This record gives sequence, structure tokens and C-alpha cells, in this order.
Amino acid sequence: MKVAEKVYLKAARLQSRLTTASPVLRDDQPQFEMTVVGVEDLGAGMRRVTFEAPGLTGFECCGPDEYFGLVLPRPGGALVMPDPEPLNVRAAIADIAEDVRPDLRWYTIRAHDALAGRIDVDIVTHGDSGPGSAWTVRASVGDRAGFRASGALYRGLDLPGRQVLVADETAVPSVAAILEALGGPAAATARGVEVHVEVADPAVLGGYDLGAATVHVRRGVPGSAVVPALDTHLARGGAPVVYAWACGETDLAAGARRALVRHGVDRRRVYFCGYWKLGRARG
Ligand SMILES: Cc1cc2nc3c(=O)[nH]c(=O)nc-3n(C[C@H](O)[C@H](O)[C@H](O)COP(=O)(O)OP(=O)(O)OC[C@H]3O[C@@H](n4cnc5c(N)ncnc54)[C@H](O)[C@@H]3O)c2cc1C
Repeated sequence: MKVAEKVYLKAARLQSRLTTASPVLRDDQPQFEMTVVGVEDLGAGMRRVTFEAPGLTGFECCGPDEYFGLVLPRPGGALVMPDPEPLNVRAAIADIAEDVRPDLRWYTIRAHDALAGRIDVDIVTHGDSGPGSAWTVRASVGDRAGFRASGALYRGLDLPGRQVLVADETAVPSVAAILEALGGPAAATARGVEVHVEVADPAVLGGYDLGAATVHVRRGVPGSAVVPALDTHLARGGAPVVYAWACGETDLAAGARRALVRHGVDRRRVYFCGYWKLGRARG
């Protein structure tokens, strides 16, 4: 690891300890190849891909919504992994010859079975408009893909009091994992954790138990259903929100954050992440 990268990592770690809403950074970024051992359609464009790798037996998640870089081979080509050393995986990938350069997209670990060395990853498919979706649509048992560890985002596990989680389809796997870590949907609700979800088609939720989550059906752009509804909901008052997490399409996540802050939630207690951007590749 280069000196500049070490300094950057140290500063980022320090900063992440200072606010509740900072992501959890890993001390390491293990990287290895995986094999697809299962593919299951959960409904309405949500596919569960199960990966297996010896590296997943020793792997420890640093949070319930642990996410990782899925390294994807070029269509019809062999998997070429980036140099595991540099912190900046994008730069490591850019160093690979163009004709074999893999694609990289970020996904959440929905479930981790350390004994079996397996992870489930739930991926929203949208045809061939991006390499992540295109790969997932064609994924079958025996396919190879790479794993590059990254970190986790949710920091509310030990926080008592009202929490607000906001998500679209892409962040539903994260919410499901968070609820599980909180003891299940009912226990999470009893603790004061509220879930507000926006989806284009409620059938996408068929594979999940989100308990008392409020589900908003999107008819327009991302955020157009959940953000105004959240605004109205927060205007009704209630206990102070001690922590909020909003993930999904960029405008949805930013809009949710603005609504929370407008209703008096301390901005340092609101974590938001644009998982994807409408009309733009994640790149
Ligand atoms: C921390 C993190 C965790 C994530 N976890 C998950 C997860 O568990 N499951 C999951 O499905 N996604 C997850 N995502 C989102 C996923 O990485 C993005 O949707 C990504 O853009 C998909 O890559 P792609 O190659 O399919 O499309 P891209 O090449 O990135 O984009 C191509 C086009 O497709 C559009 N597009 C991208 N995603 C979607 C979508 N979901 N629906 C409709 N259009 C889309 C873009 O706007 C663009 O026009 C996560 C992202 C982050 C940052």
C-alpha cells in the first residue's frame, strides 16, 4: 500500500469514528474469485445469486449491510482480477489491458454463511443497460466472478430510539439484512425502527419480510413517491429521530435526507448513499 493511501485511510477512519452517520471502513480489503452455485428469481426483476469461495469462510462482515465490489468478466471472456494491493480498486482495474478489463459494480451481502463459504446477493435486473444487470440476467451455476471487500454503511445497531430507514429496490436487500441484525422486523419495530420503501412493483418484495415497512409505489422518477410521503409523515411529529439511513437512487436518497433535515434531524445523524444514478452508469 502506498504511503498516500495509508494516510488517506487513517484520516478516513478517524473521521468515520467522529459521526454516527459515517460508513464503517474495513482494515483490510480481501479479494478473491468466487463461483456461482445458485441462481433464484425472487420476483419482479430481483435475482438472488449465491456465490461460493474458500475466502468467504474466513471473511467477517463489519456491518449488517456489508457491500463489496463484484468483479465481472468481459462477456464471453475469462475473469481477470485486479491487483489486490492498491486501495483504489478502480485504479487497479484501469491498469488492466482494455480487451480483458473486468467491470466492477457494488452489491450488498444479503446473507453470509461462513461455514459453507457462501454469500447470497440480491440484484435488481434492468436488462442489458449495464454490465452488472447484463451479467446477472445470464448468470448460471459454474460462472466465475470476483469479490473485493469494501465496508458497511449502517451504524444504528446499538442506538436506542427512533430510527428511519429509506430504500428503493436496490437497497431492500440491505434493509432486510439490517432488520435481521436487529433481531427481526418485529423486534426492530419495537425498538422504534421505521422502514419506508419505494418500489416500481411491489412484487419485487416477494422474497422479503420487511414487517411493518411502509411501501410506496413509484409512478414517476425515483423518490417521487417516498420523499413527499416521508415529508408528510415526519411533519406529524413523534419521537426525535436519533439515526437515519437512506439508500437507493441518488435523488431518492438525497431527497429523503433533505426531508429529514428539514424536520429537525441532525444532519450528522443521517447517512445517505446514492447506490445508483438514473440515466448514468455507476462506472
Ligand atoms: C453500497 C452499495 C450497495 C448496493 N447494493 C445493491 C444490491 O444489493 N442490489 C442491487 O440490485 N443493487 C445494489 N447497488 C446498486 C448497484 O450497484 C447499481 O444499481 C449499479 O448501477 C448497477 O450496475 P449496472 O451495471 O447494472 O448498471 P450501470 O452500468 O451502473 O448503469 C447503466 C444504466 O442502468 C441504470 N440503472 C442502474 N441501476 C439500475 C436499477 N437498479 N434499476 C434501473 N436502472 C438502473 C443507470 O441509471 C444507467 O442508465 C448497490 C450500490 C452501492 C453503492
